[in-house]
Amino acid sequence: MSTVTRFAPSPTGRLHIGHAYSALFAYGRAAKPGGRFILRIEDIDAGRCRPEFEDGIYEDLSWLGVAWEEPVRRQSEHMDDYRAALDKLEDGGLLYPCFCTRKEIQAEITRSPSAPHGPEGYLYPGTCRDLGKSERADKIASGVPYALRLDIAKACAETGPLTWLDHAKGLQTAAPETLGDIVLARKDTPAGYHLCVTLDDHLQGVTLVTRGEDLFHATHMHRLLQELLGLNVPEWCHHKMLLDEEGRRFAKRNNAITLQYLRESGKTPADITAMTGFS
Ligand code: GLU
Repeated sequence: MSTVTRFAPSPTGRLHIGHAYSALFAYGRAAKPGGRFILRIEDIDAGRCRPEFEDGIYEDLSWLGVAWEEPVRRQSEHMDDYRAALDKLEDGGLLYPCFCTRKEIQAEITRSPSAPHGPEGYLYPGTCRDLGKSERADKIASGVPYALRLDIAKACAETGPLTWLDHAKGLQTAAPETLGDIVLARKDTPAGYHLCVTLDDHLQGVTLVTRGEDLFHATHMHRLLQELLGLNVPEWCHHKMLLDEEGRRFAKRNNAITLQYLRESGKTPADITAMTGFS
């Protein structure tokens, strides 16, 4: 089977050297006969995404010599796809509306010192999971904003145990419960990261999802969503995070390591491949 990989940046800042590593990693894995490399723009967060950063992604990748397939999928143009997936989960009784504000969630966690903790921090304490039908309906009717959360216990009971393959770490037993009742549709954006990325990888025929180790735990959830939605199951390769000289991860706010800055200060694409260790 030919390998289809993707690079899926969010246009919330200029690409930096860590992104170059990730893009070159994915590009290299697809560089075999029949391989395909896809670029996807993850721009569902309208408040943080900017057109100039999207233009910057095209500019920087072209300069690096990374060639992607057209047309590029821009998530903001596919809200209907995400809505249909949410409807499917909702019809299966796996979602519930959550009216909690961040403050309320924090207060609830503070009240229960043994509140469970996952890789992304405290888990949602489940306040809205057991609201009665009429209470939910009243809140919705009176216009209280709500997110849609996945009932993780129900979802896991439905799929039973799952596994997934990471090329670097081998066969994994999926543990999506460690993330708790995650938000699949946010109050301000009718779709969230986990849902969009999983559905898009399926719709775009991605066979090998490559991304940084910082998203390793998210894959447990993506494997669960694939099973619930009847999607293809790719393989994964979570790569190391490129670190600066002090051993810290590169951050978008550090302008000195953006590809734009490096280019303007005289670095060549070959310098970038050498800096990222791909030459
Ligand atoms: N859009 C995500 C980011 O920029 C990456 C998503 C993924 O590779 O799954 O961090």
